[in-house]
Amino acid sequence: MTKYDYLVVGAGLYGAVFAHEAAKAGKKVLVIDRRPNIAGNVYTEDIEKIHVHKYGAHIFHTNDQKVWEYVQNFAVFNRFTNSPVANFHGELYSLPFNMYTFNKMWGVVTPEEAAEKIEEQRREAGIKEPKNLEEQAISLVGTDIYEKLIKGYTEKQWGRPCTELPAFIIKRLPVRLTFDNNYFNALYQGIPVGGYTKMVANMLAGAKVQEGEDFGTGEAPVDDAGSIEVHVGVDFFDAEGAPREDLKALADKVVYTGAIDAYFGYKLGYLEYRSVRFETELLDKPNFQGNAAVNYTDRETPWTRIIEHKWFEFGKDDDGNDIPKTVISREFSSEWKPGDEPYYPVNDEKNGRLYEEYKRLAEAEDNVIFGGRLGEYKYYDMDKVIASALDMCGEVL
Ligand SMILES: Cc1cc2nc3c(=O)[nH]c(=O)nc-3n(C[C@H](O)[C@H](O)[C@H](O)COP(=O)(O)OP(=O)(O)OC[C@H]3O[C@@H](n4cnc5c(N)ncnc54)[C@H](O)[C@@H]3O)c2cc1C
Repeated sequence: MTKYDYLVVGAGLYGAVFAHEAAKAGKKVLVIDRRPNIAGNVYTEDIEKIHVHKYGAHIFHTNDQKVWEYVQNFAVFNRFTNSPVANFHGELYSLPFNMYTFNKMWGVVTPEEAAEKIEEQRREAGIKEPKNLEEQAISLVGTDIYEKLIKGYTEKQWGRPCTELPAFIIKRLPVRLTFDNNYFNALYQGIPVGGYTKMVANMLAGAKVQEGEDFGTGEAPVDDAGSIEVHVGVDFFDAEGAPREDLKALADKVVYTGAIDAYFGYKLGYLEYRSVRFETELLDKPNFQGNAAVNYTDRETPWTRIIEHKWFEFGKDDDGNDIPKTVISREFSSEWKPGDEPYYPVNDEKNGRLYEEYKRLAEAEDNVIFGGRLGEYKYYDMDKVIASALDMCGEVL
């Protein structure tokens, strides 16, 4: 006998939004995740009252008013603005490239002077048809910005010299002739106060997060209509890597937000990802770098950036008290291999073709919806994944 209307595999944003809307529409929903926690990649772990972004720094930003209003139902957002700092051998520059950057680099004061300086450097380089990424970058912003702010960072990210990278990777390099170091051109931006995990828990209606498979207990009613039950530490796949029929039988329909190639036992081959490794440290000092993100743009420093998590929420705990310690994460670009945590889908032709083949198999699966960044093998920002889940809800609920 079917107990649930939906089994949602994955308690990340896609799964949580879908579960919330389904329960609001009167459905009984079971959510499982193989990790020991909810929230997927936006999971924030509390360390010394600091909400640590365990799977990479996440800044919510969107131009979609509907999504912005939607997330307000689950969290209060602070006024965090992403303004990374570049550290080149100890010289600090403001990012993205703007008047603060140009003033520090060349001592120019007016936008006209900055524009002239960039033009002068481009002219001097005399590159007409860029043959690689280095030439492309220099032809766009000149030598100084390239050498100090682009070269080392890009080489660390791609693990190759810029002269060996294709020019098309950099189509344009936005240059702002204003004193504006707000990284995102988004209408709305912020971080949920209390961390993303709390926001996702609210989407899941505050259901008790249970470890293991004691299904049928701990459901949370939603609007007196449907309900959500959450179990972590439960893998949808069995030891052989096939979808578990006993779990599927628990519900009429499955919403699957794991990797699409994994669902089919990688039978057509592995989809590739770009990966990143984090080294996180708790420091016995209140302030390490004075900013949430500092990019290390020289080639010699092995990490690409350091995140100091407390500054996403301005260094205070939930009661407004200053926090005497700090947590930092160094990020290292790394090659992905099967079995590693998948981070960024590689949207090149080869992987695109393979995904299309998996998608055809997915379309032939009865009663399974494939969604989210892994299910659709697509780089989604948070707002886009929420919008996509809401669209799906509109279609099927
Ligand atoms: C390093 C990094 C930084 C980012 N920064 C930003 C940012 O600043 N701003 C922004 O808007 N977006 C950012 N994003 C994108 C953001 O993380 C995604 O939009 C969002 O997390 C996608 O949610 P999801 O539910 O699709 O996937 P996920 O969060 O990955 O959720 C999928 C869940 O499914 C579970 N699962 C998988 N397989 C199984 C299985 N077999 N059984 C049970 N459970 C399973 C996983 O454990 C996971 O919890 C960033 C992404 C990365 C990688």
